[in-house]
Amino acid sequence: MIEKRDFYINGRWTAPAAARDYAVIDPSTEEPCAVISLGDRADTEAAVAAAKAALPAWRATAPEERLAYVEKILAIYKERYEEMAEAMSLEMGAPIDFARSEQAGAGTWHIENFIKAAKDFEWVHPLGDGTPGAMIAYEAIGVVGLITPWNWPMNQVTLKVIPALIAGCTMVLKPSEEAPLSSLLFAEFIHDAGVPAGVFNLVNGDGVGVGSQLSTHPDIQMISFTGSTRAGKAISIAAAETLKRVVLELGGKGANLVFADCDEKAVKRGVRHMFENTGQSCNAPSRMLVERSYYEKALEIAAQTAAETQTGNPREPGRHLGPVINKSQFEKIQGLIESGIKEGARLIAGGLGRPEGLNKGYYVRPTIFADCTPEMTIMREEIFGPVLSIMPFDTEEEAVAIANDTPYGLTNYLQTQDPARTNRLLRALDAGMVVANGKSRGAGAPFGGVKASGRAREGGRWGIEEFCDVKSIGGWVE
Ligand code: NAD
Repeated sequence: MIEKRDFYINGRWTAPAAARDYAVIDPSTEEPCAVISLGDRADTEAAVAAAKAALPAWRATAPEERLAYVEKILAIYKERYEEMAEAMSLEMGAPIDFARSEQAGAGTWHIENFIKAAKDFEWVHPLGDGTPGAMIAYEAIGVVGLITPWNWPMNQVTLKVIPALIAGCTMVLKPSEEAPLSSLLFAEFIHDAGVPAGVFNLVNGDGVGVGSQLSTHPDIQMISFTGSTRAGKAISIAAAETLKRVVLELGGKGANLVFADCDEKAVKRGVRHMFENTGQSCNAPSRMLVERSYYEKALEIAAQTAAETQTGNPREPGRHLGPVINKSQFEKIQGLIESGIKEGARLIAGGLGRPEGLNKGYYVRPTIFADCTPEMTIMREEIFGPVLSIMPFDTEEEAVAIANDTPYGLTNYLQTQDPARTNRLLRALDAGMVVANGKSRGAGAPFGGVKASGRAREGGRWGIEEFCDVKSIGGWVE
């Protein structure tokens, strides 16, 4: 059993103020694999005090100096990459090959993109032509609280910690109590990179404890949060009294518009994307809308793709899916599959219960519903499991209206080979991110949504700006 009870406060591994053990469950066995501590108010206070004390010196360092620390963190991450992949595979059930390529890879990818963005970042620049002495300066917002979820642990942690360091902020990270092992390892990387004491602090805890203590703390200037829309609302309310900046990266219910002129891999790609990470991605394309003339063909490909999808032990190599994170997610997903059946959607793959041969572990059958209608629960609620809902449409206008008829607005997807329609719909779909034909959004592009998906813009230059206040200067002497 891994024992990781200490927190990282003021440059040291520190025992919790009060003993509150919390078992980390391996979702593939349903058994504890590690024990951590849940922090108390005294731990949060110690971490915030350390971050506050470290702020003046850290924000005064030259950006190049801060960047040098980030480059060291990246080098250590790369050296200990395998440990990072194994930690995530254990804590949240990502199959080891996926943990290596995607989960651990997301961390290095973001750090590299931030390094590039930081090199081009203009910390102080003229307002414009014809306004002599008028300058714009980007300055660290101050002490920040970072609260992250379990589904893409290092993706989220690097999207917050790295730009905060680059901007000159000091911080307290509270990773998800469900998947804390990767963050504890990341804290070791930061320590070994020699980041000054107090700049980065980590306190484990739950939402009602350390999470809300950070959200209400008068010495914290900003909360950057990724997780559920429910917790995002609670944090916004909690943070209102101290008028913090609150940056929220929340859930999604992405639409994937498949036109009859799509490329031949479009449906397969959409199904695979939906199932990736066992459906536990906020940007999953969970509603597939298919032009009616292509509908039967699309269902055939989708059912075939689901039938080819294997589920199994995350410690074994291969492209299979792992379990979902925990019992309550497993039960929530089962409940939503049941609602799909009851509300009249047609099951064309998967269904209730575990996949054949798996009697233990939070494994869910890769599931596809056809003939869905927009008002069904499975078309409206974020399922966060390997469950795809498909329905037909007749016109482009109808497809866009259905896609946009959701409280969420994180990512939408489009499959068509018509160039004019591609660009028209990339603008018509309401979302922070829209992607056509399986293309990449590009290195350093901002990640974030609109509406109930939150309005964060994480990654690259935009991700650094979020941790800055903009100072407007008059009378600058050239
Ligand atoms: P969650 O909201 O329950 O927890 C996320 C984090 O917030 C955890 O660290 C948790 O301890 C903390 N937390 C919970 N309640 C809190 C409160 N009241 N105050 C302060 N902190 C609190 O979410 P989860 O179950 O860990 O993650 C799944 C959800 O996160 C899904 O809905 C998913 O869509 C969303 N998510 C969104 C993104 C995105 O980028 N938009 C990324 C990952 C996950």
